[in-house]
Amino acid sequence: MADTIHWADVIAEDVLNKSGKHLVATGITPSGHIHIGNMREVVTADAAYRALLDRGADARFIYIADNFDPLRKVYPFLPESYAEHVGKPISEVPCPCGECANYSEHFLKPFLEALRRLGINPEVYRADEMYRAGMYTEAIKTALVKRNEIAKILEEVSGKTVAEEWSPFNPRCNECGKITTTKVTGFDPDAETVDYVCACGHSGTVPMAGGGKLTWRVDWPARWAVLGVTVEPFGKDHASRGGSYDTGKRIVREIYGHEPPFPIVYEWIMLGKQGAMSSSTGVVVSISDMLEVVPPEVLRYLIIRTKPEKHIQFDPAQPLLTIVDEYERLREKFRDNDPSMGEFEKRIYELSRATGICHPEIPFKQMVTIFQVARGNFEQILQIVKRSGFSTEDEKCIRELVDNVSKWLELYAPPFAKFSVKENVPVQVATLSELQKAFLGAFADLIESKGKISGEEYHMLVYSAKEKGSELNRLIAEKLNVPAPQVDPKDLFKAIYTSILGQSSGPKAGWFLSSFEEDFLINRFREASTYSPEKRE
Ligand SMILES: [Zn+2]
Ligand SMILES: [Zn+2]
Repeated sequence: MADTIHWADVIAEDVLNKSGKHLVATGITPSGHIHIGNMREVVTADAAYRALLDRGADARFIYIADNFDPLRKVYPFLPESYAEHVGKPISEVPCPCGECANYSEHFLKPFLEALRRLGINPEVYRADEMYRAGMYTEAIKTALVKRNEIAKILEEVSGKTVAEEWSPFNPRCNECGKITTTKVTGFDPDAETVDYVCACGHSGTVPMAGGGKLTWRVDWPARWAVLGVTVEPFGKDHASRGGSYDTGKRIVREIYGHEPPFPIVYEWIMLGKQGAMSSSTGVVVSISDMLEVVPPEVLRYLIIRTKPEKHIQFDPAQPLLTIVDEYERLREKFRDNDPSMGEFEKRIYELSRATGICHPEIPFKQMVTIFQVARGNFEQILQIVKRSGFSTEDEKCIRELVDNVSKWLELYAPPFAKFSVKENVPVQVATLSELQKAFLGAFADLIESKGKISGEEYHMLVYSAKEKGSELNRLIAEKLNVPAPQVDPKDLFKAIYTSILGQSSGPKAGWFLSSFEEDFLINRFREASTYSPEKRE
């Protein structure tokens, strides 16, 4: 049976049965380029948040940058010199470019910028600041006091033995700055301090506020309790049996006396032929990279239209155009108030749109044509956009679309989508038949007599050539000096592409022809119609 209610609305209905006040949370560790798989998390959260707001719920949406997590290893994109920083919180590791406040900010900045472009505006929290501000202090105290109960839950749920010296808290060594090499030796709940020894040989005391962090499996449920998280999407790696959601669920209930959030488990995004996008596979295409090619509303649509539990196959080459077409059809239907548009389709469209982002009215594929006709020259592009009947008022949004198209042509476009307008009549014109040449001459005359012609009209005109008695058919007849020629429009389109591009196929003819000034077409078609190879010598 077809879906009738969008998944975000199903979730909203579900959680509103429990309470009217909601906090939708997402959290990502900015330890490297934040990839397109992570984008699914924030877009999913945003959809649930908006579905809640649409029902009048009292809802907030937060994003927590887990920047107090340690640097796990020297990633392939880092210089060897980062070896000394492994184990330190990423908010205390220097940034790779030397221009950001720290390592985590280096990766956070482009991610937050990408969110802005996607029209997603959560309240942003940074874990290091939350710890330092003492937001976790009570939760840390409770965890240290109830260390044995937590260890028991972890063993029961995950089936793994918890080591004797395990502690829910990882102190940050005052000497070497690492949080992965310390062991808790004691704590003082009144002074709110923790004692530790470190593998570096140092031992000391740190404050609970900012002197270290809870280990992930405890940090997560503590956060639910501290902030009051009620809805949270997360990747399926956290959702496995005995995984961190399972242990977190019991810890938050039994240790912190709070209900776990409603889980939205999402599947990975599979990119082209490269494989699943997850932090563990190492295949990374950052969101910023993707936004260079795909318009933000199309990226949103890609995620919104698919249920979170289904994986998304995404190929930015030719298949991207199919998704873009689908989305643009939806956009058109919505704009025209098309009665065939069902509630479900309408909802997908609504959730894919966002305020404050560009919604260019020019179809992506048409811009692919315009861009190549104008050879990428922005001024010319604007002229063609205008000539094609679109508004040029919002130059910034047109520029964004142009940038997307330019990058797509450079990185992903299949050869058949590319063309270049030849400066002069191409030699391939020599292969045209007498009929094709007569058509080009007749077509030039017709364009000259008509003046301004729209894309749709160009298309109809070419087709009219096969109707005996049509103006174009009559003009061709005159040139060939025959009564009523038999014409196949396919040959005419070939003649058009050959005379302009030197190849027998090209983009949709209406869009293509209306991208040129009439004078250019008239001259080119006339020259081609009288072309003979000798004349070039
Ligand atoms: Zn930087
Ligand atoms: Zn140390």
